[in-house]
Amino acid sequence: MDFKDIVGHEEIIKHFKSSIEQNKVAHAYIINGEADSGKKMLARTFAATLQCEGNGISPCNACKSCNKVATGNHPDIITVTHEKEGLISVDEIRTQLIDDVYTKPYESKYKIYIIPDAELLNIQAQNAILKTIEEPPAYAVIMLLTSNINKLLETVRSRCIILNTKPIRERDMLTYLKGMGLNEDKAYFCLDFAQGNLGKAIKLANNEEYTRIIDSVVSVLKKIHEMDVDDLSTALKTIQDFKLSINDYLDLMIMWYRDVLMLKVTGNIDKLLFKSEYTTMKKQAALMSYECIDHKIDAIQVAEQRLMANANFDITIELLLLTLKEN
Ligand SMILES: [Zn+2]
Repeated sequence: MDFKDIVGHEEIIKHFKSSIEQNKVAHAYIINGEADSGKKMLARTFAATLQCEGNGISPCNACKSCNKVATGNHPDIITVTHEKEGLISVDEIRTQLIDDVYTKPYESKYKIYIIPDAELLNIQAQNAILKTIEEPPAYAVIMLLTSNINKLLETVRSRCIILNTKPIRERDMLTYLKGMGLNEDKAYFCLDFAQGNLGKAIKLANNEEYTRIIDSVVSVLKKIHEMDVDDLSTALKTIQDFKLSINDYLDLMIMWYRDVLMLKVTGNIDKLLFKSEYTTMKKQAALMSYECIDHKIDAIQVAEQRLMANANFDITIELLLLTLKEN
């Protein structure tokens, strides 16, 4: 664990390091950025540095404290957990943080609380935390990690140092992905898919379903315009197999239509993600108007939102397929 092993996020790392150097470590931080963008890694490395017996601006990875961080057993770094999906309750915050924070650290300088998915804190829980953030014990550091800072109360936000993750440079991501052993094509595919989010790219690269999802998206969208009722229900059945990866599936569908759009606008094949489907894409680009392609992309995004809001899977996908079929 070391800041120098983290790809990108230079500004946040600089902030952490200089706050340690200048002895200005804050009591409360918000790290804001999309899922898989590296928030936990940043928080953990900062926590490890603060607790390290080496007193440097990066963890030494040799002391007792660093060893405990590495095995996930540091008693003074607490990651808040929750039972219910989609909610961190006030009781959970009380037992794990508020009632615990006034007990001095067991063996380190600090007592550090990391709250992943802080957007799941309900208002009661946020108000409860607020009091701790307003009058924290000297040794307390609280880090709220969130992909949606708007869900946090203004009163909470105003008392925290807010650090926003930024997209990672393409060349840095590419170097990392190639270092993982990906070939050029796959590395570029992951790069385009993840849009500056290295965690998302790595997840896709490691996803064993990856090739199956791409094949399925291609097979459905290639023939969507010629599908009859039976074909559509076969397509629905195919997509049901990917229920657990449906967000990736739909993101790839969006990328398909972005390719069609790009081809229509520029005629340039080089930048296509689905290069091997060039002939089909060219036909679709000729067949559809700009508005029509936009409409399809919107429809996929709407389906994504509906599924996130727990809409019925089959109905949502069926409606989507019907919209994609129309011109
Ligand atoms: Zn250390």
